[in-house]
Amino acid sequence: MISERDLLAKVPTGLFIGGEWKDAAETFAVTDPSTGKTLVEIANATVDEGTAALDAAVAAQEEWAATPPRTRSNILRDAFDLMQERRDEFALLMTLEMGKPLAESNGEVTYGGEFLRWFSEEAVRVAGRYGLNPEGTGRMIVSQHPVGPCFLITPWNFPLAMATRKIAPALAAGCTVVVKPASLTPLTTLYFAKLLEDAGLPKGVVNIVTTKRTGPVSDAILDDPRLRKLSFTGSTGVGQDLIAKSAKNVLRTSMELGGNAPFIVFDDADLDAAVDGAIAAKFRNIGQACTAANRFIVHESVADEFARRVTERVTSMRIGRGTDDGVMIGPLIDDRAVDKANRLVQDAVEHGASLVTGGSAIEGDGSFYEPTVMTGVPSDAEIVREEIFGPVLAIAPFSTEDEAVAMANGVEYGLIAYAFTKDLARGHRMIERLESGMVGLNAGVISNAAAPFGGVKQSGLGREGGLEGIHEYLNTKYTMMPA
Ligand code: NAD
Repeated sequence: MISERDLLAKVPTGLFIGGEWKDAAETFAVTDPSTGKTLVEIANATVDEGTAALDAAVAAQEEWAATPPRTRSNILRDAFDLMQERRDEFALLMTLEMGKPLAESNGEVTYGGEFLRWFSEEAVRVAGRYGLNPEGTGRMIVSQHPVGPCFLITPWNFPLAMATRKIAPALAAGCTVVVKPASLTPLTTLYFAKLLEDAGLPKGVVNIVTTKRTGPVSDAILDDPRLRKLSFTGSTGVGQDLIAKSAKNVLRTSMELGGNAPFIVFDDADLDAAVDGAIAAKFRNIGQACTAANRFIVHESVADEFARRVTERVTSMRIGRGTDDGVMIGPLIDDRAVDKANRLVQDAVEHGASLVTGGSAIEGDGSFYEPTVMTGVPSDAEIVREEIFGPVLAIAPFSTEDEAVAMANGVEYGLIAYAFTKDLARGHRMIERLESGMVGLNAGVISNAAAPFGGVKQSGLGREGGLEGIHEYLNTKYTMMPA
């Protein structure tokens, strides 16, 4: 295994524009959330440098769109192979800058890498339609074309997968991109750009802008009429702001926004499976996933037993730096995240919830919060409406199926919903009745590159992955020819 110092020395720290690594006049620090210490200083782009990245993407667009799909496919496939070779390095880098346990970072290399393989396969399967019109007087041709230069903005919680989930379909479709990774976790994206270079990606097809001047740099790119699409993953509030800004140039937009997933456990559920699913859906990524179960809605007849069993698992979780063996709970991304978990737990307790275990920040270096279980969480507690983004498992009881569905649907988000039941008919009713883009039916982890990921309501617009993913980067064109 490579040492932390040797790995950090290999990660580029400049801006990647037009296939060149450029130093910026200013830098900012990227820190390790488990120690609070600086890992490395990287380029802090100005507005002009952001615009230069768009210039490069625009300049490369025509040639990339005209590159044979098989060539684009091969580059993505080579990138997938390189990702497997560099798996340990990517995993360690994510753990260093984001804090998640190494085993989970490894899982993200697998998941994130799969988008490269999946879209290398999709690149050669973009098809159209051809046929007579109903009147028999004309031929109708429907064809697909790359939308053009795209701006991709990613969050800090899955530093690799959120980047590959956007970059791979964009490249497969024939689009060039400017990527702005989260300033908290930019290193993985920078190291991925180097991998793409090594895979033979032509200059200017992918450009990376790291910056702390997020608003102004992003606004200038969005304001530029040469940009054709924005794909954003992040919080709903920022997403709403960016949708408004995208209106000016009527940009195509894909929005992967916040979640507030219900996790329903019916009285007929396999309780062992529900507990396993709950632990995975809640504590993966230290609770910092848009798919994290936020509200455990458990039938009153099994609520106590469910709480007892999850608490048993939670109290045995090892807390520590993600690089240490057996750690399941690493740090939260920063102290603000710790304060938020604390605030939501205190508020729930003040509203009448019972704290079973945890409930406090952990003193010392880094941003750690105890894995927490609460029961009897009332519907007027803030934790019911807000995305927790921390290791807090909040349980509320229900009595009827209608009540469970009303509780599950009673929020503005609709990314994913989980339901555990052995009753097949009830399972199908849940698919129909739960207002969400995705359902985990007796499953606590569902993400897959081959599946369409995305939400309804204020959780977003569009889908990433699956057969749908590449269409976010394609425009449909209809041509009429007299018969
Ligand atoms: P965030 O909205 O704070 O930031 C996301 C990205 O947007 C970052 O790169 C950030 O620098 C950038 N940004 C912030 N303000 C901006 C502005 N004014 N203009 C342009 N860019 C701006 O979100 P976060 O804290 O990084 O990520 C956590 C959020 O992301 C959670 O709400 C989570 O649910 C959501 N998320 C959603 C999905 C999904 O697929 N639906 C996946 C992962 C995370």
